[in-house]
Amino acid sequence: MSKNGEKPARLLIRDLSQVASPAGRSAPVRGAELRAIDLVADAYILCEDGRIADVGPMQELWRLDDDVVEVDGRGLSAVPGLVDCHTHACFAGDRVDEFSQRAAGATYEELHARGGGILSTVRATREAGEAGLAAALSRHQAWMLRAGTTTFEAKSGYGLDRDTELTQLRVIKSAGGVPTWLGAHAVPPEFADAGADAYVDFLIEDVLPDAALLAEAADVFLERGAFDLAQARRVLLASRSSGLELRLHGDQFTEAGAIPLAIELNARSVDHLESTGSTGIDALSSSAVVGVLLPASALFLGRPMPPARALVDAGAAIALATDFNPGSAYCESLPLVCALAATQLRLAPEEALTACTVNAAHVLSRADRKGRLARGFDADIVLVAADDWRHLAYHLGGDVVHTVVRGGRIESTARA
Ligand SMILES: [Zn+2]
Repeated sequence: MSKNGEKPARLLIRDLSQVASPAGRSAPVRGAELRAIDLVADAYILCEDGRIADVGPMQELWRLDDDVVEVDGRGLSAVPGLVDCHTHACFAGDRVDEFSQRAAGATYEELHARGGGILSTVRATREAGEAGLAAALSRHQAWMLRAGTTTFEAKSGYGLDRDTELTQLRVIKSAGGVPTWLGAHAVPPEFADAGADAYVDFLIEDVLPDAALLAEAADVFLERGAFDLAQARRVLLASRSSGLELRLHGDQFTEAGAIPLAIELNARSVDHLESTGSTGIDALSSSAVVGVLLPASALFLGRPMPPARALVDAGAAIALATDFNPGSAYCESLPLVCALAATQLRLAPEEALTACTVNAAHVLSRADRKGRLARGFDADIVLVAADDWRHLAYHLGGDVVHTVVRGGRIESTARA
């Protein structure tokens, strides 16, 4: 029921050229199954009470009464609302100066010496305050929505002190995002002398008890120069004891044991994998852990692409995400990520779609209601501005998202 007591109108999207949705009902989808898409041509989608009531061919559409808002889908195709399962979208400021210096040849060490890197975003985020941070996230969220993202995860990790970490999680949660606690993102300046072990003690004793009330998962940046295997295990074990799901940034620059740790602790996902070799591919492929691939980040940093084709061919479950953040992936667009998947990761558009819908929803524990266009699922829908949905991946950097429906409501639509 709406606020004034009226039953909300039903939404009928009719005369769509295609409706494309990952096949089946199980999650995560792995290996060869990633290519399986249910395709309905000349189709309609009926939404009721925020859920999908029906999907089918136009010839099976029954006459409806007047209480229906109709959307003309001619020339358009529909895919599930996109799910971005790995972002750092809750940040203040930007790092365009750093980007510009790096483009002109400055090294990471030189940028760090000039005050760049994660800690510059930490300074801006601490200074922004809760209202400033909420305004920044709202702006980023609007960008994501226009690009077709109807469900997003965002991590803390730009506070690195108790209050700002909790503020980030609160802001993400109240914006409707899925909050992940990434206190172990970097060692903050206050712990430069005491070291990473002392910071991990602080995280577990002083931050985790309250973070666990706000976040759904915990994440750690397991990497040389950030947190090592023992520190990552401590943070994740304590987080699991507090009821959080587990994620892990791993194998971005070096293989430091992230995949065995993620499997040992039954993590939801291990994310990045640009440096993963054949042993890691085999281990991940025979596990329940989802490999989250972030090709926009690899592109942005000029790093090797993750071994997506080998993972899928070995039977792994993969997801795709933006890694949206100010330093290494200033990119909110999952359609662009799908284009990179098709051109750089050698994934078929079908595999890319499954990876950023149902499998991403699985990483966020929402695959029972998000990531598919099927009866009973949330009415989160992207109308692609083409009669073939594969333009989502084909139109590189194009304005390919025509209309975004979330919870059965039109949230964004192309200007006439
Ligand atoms: Zn990340």
